[in-house]
Amino acid sequence: MIKTDVLIIGSGPAGYTAGLYTTRAGLNTTLFTGKNIGGQLMYTHEIENFPGYEKISGAELMNIFQKQVVSIGTTIENEQIKSLNIKKYPFEFTTESTRHGEAKAVIIATGSKAKWLNITGEEKFKGQGISVCATCDGFFYRNKIVAVIGGGNTALYEALFLARVASAVYLINNTDKFSGEFTLQKQVFENKKIIVLNNTSVQAFNGNERLESILIYNKKEEKQDILQINGVFEAIGTLPQTELVENQLELTSDGYIKTDKRTMETSVKGVFACGDVQENIYRQAINAAGSGCVAALGVEKFLLHPEPY
Ligand SMILES: Cc1cc2nc3c(=O)[nH]c(=O)nc-3n(C[C@H](O)[C@H](O)[C@H](O)COP(=O)(O)OP(=O)(O)OC[C@H]3O[C@@H](n4cnc5c(N)ncnc54)[C@H](O)[C@@H]3O)c2cc1C
Repeated sequence: MIKTDVLIIGSGPAGYTAGLYTTRAGLNTTLFTGKNIGGQLMYTHEIENFPGYEKISGAELMNIFQKQVVSIGTTIENEQIKSLNIKKYPFEFTTESTRHGEAKAVIIATGSKAKWLNITGEEKFKGQGISVCATCDGFFYRNKIVAVIGGGNTALYEALFLARVASAVYLINNTDKFSGEFTLQKQVFENKKIIVLNNTSVQAFNGNERLESILIYNKKEEKQDILQINGVFEAIGTLPQTELVENQLELTSDGYIKTDKRTMETSVKGVFACGDVQENIYRQAINAAGSGCVAALGVEKFLLHPEPY
């Protein structure tokens, strides 16, 4: 039986930052990394927007995060949490290797996963012309031709963002209208660099070492075409990793864990969430790390100074 003051689930920027703070507060902290040790950034070749580092690879940055929490005494378990019972107190959990445990407080930092199209060529060109984050990778397409796939707020926002950097932006939407906000749509239509392709889907990604073109299909005209392109940004949605707490915690209408954005408290006292699993707009490493800090301070207050704020 594992007994810990604080259970942290997830080893991305949010989870490691939370571990740094709870351990330094003298709380016995056990952090389960899950299968994706280091989180989403492990797949990013270059990060240029994490303060303190002009340029660093995702893997290098996350190794530094891990080294720091290990050096101060956080217990790291390279395993996945299989189930969590937050209806009982102390909270109970089971790992994939069927170890059982109890925790006095829980921080959920399980992140989110981008939805992918799952079409020909996608796997090959991920990170070589295909991205799911314009804020992260847009800068690499200065004066190049790019495409954004999607029609919601994220897609519209990313197209506008890229139009400030790229020479042209195709916005490829598989229906005849966008689902994103009217004000963003207006800005998109007014932007001369953005070329809207409605009723159009992407069928394949092609190239040699890097992405060079995409095969598109217009369902209204029943016509295929090839677009020469330097980069593609898929913006077809994200999936917050909430399996462990579904039916136990309040979620937002789009499936994220509902938190008080000031304290990172969830609908269950003693359970906190941070990072992308509760952030449906500004999914960035520094924001995840910041919310990890807040969640940890909340845990500290919950366990060590439980008087009212
Ligand atoms: C391709 C790409 C490029 C990006 N580039 C940048 C960039 O340049 N700059 C930037 O600021 N942001 C970037 N981002 C966004 C950034 O990666 C995320 O905002 C950040 O990683 C979120 O951190 P997190 O800690 O919330 O979750 P994640 O990094 O997603 O980590 C989630 C963690 O939870 C673990 N986990 C999940 N389920 C379980 C379970 N059941 N048990 C135990 N562990 C579990 C996983 O193993 C993982 O360790 C990028 C994202 C992508 C996809």
